[in-house]
Amino acid sequence: MARSIFGELQQTFRTLLASRPGSGAAVETLTEQAFNLFEANIGVQSAHLPVLACDKGCPSCCALRVTATAPEIFLLARYIRQIDQRAPRTALGLLSRRVQLANRTTRGLDEVERMKLREPCPFVVRGACIIHPARPLACRGHASFDRRACSQAMAGRDVDVPVSAPHIALRGLIQDALRSALAEA
Ligand code: SF4
Repeated sequence: MARSIFGELQQTFRTLLASRPGSGAAVETLTEQAFNLFEANIGVQSAHLPVLACDKGCPSCCALRVTATAPEIFLLARYIRQIDQRAPRTALGLLSRRVQLANRTTRGLDEVERMKLREPCPFVVRGACIIHPARPLACRGHASFDRRACSQAMAGRDVDVPVSAPHIALRGLIQDALRSALAEA
């Protein structure tokens, strides 16, 4: 089942890349399509599960290390530039600066050192993710059923956080198909 979904995703991405070879815009469209596919399918995939605890205003897990593919980062960079141009004098207009500061704080640290820092993602502004529409697949694929457990884990307590397996699986499938189609192209 997962193999056939992977094949369909891979073909969708391949077709898009082949339609505009070498185009940077095609890579951005590809990434948007990957996000749209995640959002369009995750509801059905997780319909049998309890309601998630995640919502706007809960950035508990946003101090974890987040990985992203290069196309996700390019799309995010464009999104940040747009916000910075629209709101240059506000807190939102300082996003590039926030990224630079976070880079300075965390650069060169390993996973354990980063976790100890508990440095929140630079995109958390007043408790909410300010780049939410452009957040990477890693963030989309991390969904918890227990807000309290998340807070305790982030405070350093040894607790199990119940997370949604379909979110993790779908994120992995889409990201792997995206990588595979890009590598081929
Ligand atoms: S990008 Fe958004 S959702 Fe992801 S870690 Fe940063 S603030 Fe949290």
